Amino acid sequence: MQPIRNIIPLLKEPKTMVIVMHQKPDADAMGSSLGLFHVLNALGHQVTVISPTNWAEWLSWMPGAEMVLDYELNTAGSNELLEKADWIFCLDFNVLHRTRKMTGPLGKAPGIRILIDHHQQPQKEAFDFGISDTSKSSASEMVFDFIESAALGDKINQAVAECLYAGVMTDTGSFRFSSASASVHRMVAVLKDTGMDHSKVHENLFDNFLENRLRFIGHALMNRLEVLYEYNTALISIPWKDLVKFQIRTGDTEGLVNYGLTIEGIKFAALIIDRDEEIKCSFRSKGGFDVNEFARNYFEGGGHRNAAGGRSSESLEQTIQRFRASLQENALQLQ
Ligand code: 5GP
Ligand code: MN
Repeated sequence: MQPIRNIIPLLKEPKTMVIVMHQKPDADAMGSSLGLFHVLNALGHQVTVISPTNWAEWLSWMPGAEMVLDYELNTAGSNELLEKADWIFCLDFNVLHRTRKMTGPLGKAPGIRILIDHHQQPQKEAFDFGISDTSKSSASEMVFDFIESAALGDKINQAVAECLYAGVMTDTGSFRFSSASASVHRMVAVLKDTGMDHSKVHENLFDNFLENRLRFIGHALMNRLEVLYEYNTALISIPWKDLVKFQIRTGDTEGLVNYGLTIEGIKFAALIIDRDEEIKCSFRSKGGFDVNEFARNYFEGGGHRNAAGGRSSESLEQTIQRFRASLQENALQLQ
């Protein structure tokens, strides 16, 4: 993988480009992709953003979201775009399989693949150019750095600012995590200078849910939360029937895992959800416990040191059992 700066001189020639993010995109995946989309468009490139799957309704306010293709709904058209793209930007993921059904076509596409990502252990051989930096708060911060290093700062308008702000704000837990560096705050100052209304972005992301989601959270905290004090761990496990009962949609469970960490002394929080097609796991930690390693070792996943995801193809009960056994194996690190 060559350094991303090597593509900067090549940006002058108009190109056909695709921007791809990870499946079930979060605000950073969608925000970094759309932020980059607007800038590349302004340069005269032909750009399409493709999401491997659908996304949460609360991301659809982002400028440009209406043009994003859902690969599962537009498979033939998306494959054609991948096939003829000169460049394919891969944002907020670093292993091709995180694009689910797109993995094969993305791997076979003849165009140049360019990585911009902040997760651990990138699949470097899959990318021709790129930057992988785990010290970065978000893919949105990295897109901002890329735009600045290409001397394209004048292309950062309010629309770009809203997209990138959404990504960096959510990935830093509203500027709470240690990744919210001084450069992150300097970036936000530049975004604010475009006239961006940051309160509006927070509202769009956090105050747009339906009543049933709030009721569901109440139910989950009351009836599905287990605190395992001997391991300083909190586990929320959600059976499929709860998702049906509360009419849970994509994105409605985002953030639920964090509640566990608000209990005094809890260092590790897990959320295990039976999504019917697979069991989805989310892991968060405070301090030294490395959930990236944990997710890799036990749940076919990965991510960051303090936030990672994974999956299981067993039943919910078997997955919970395996989770408990894995806690035992990690008892020392969880003290
Ligand atoms: P979440 O629990 O919100 O799905 O994921 C937490 C973090 O881990 C996010 O940064 C997400 O992109 C990352 N992540 C989730 N699943 C995987 C996975 O299977 N592999 C890798 N490398 N990262 C993941
Ligand atoms: Mn991210």
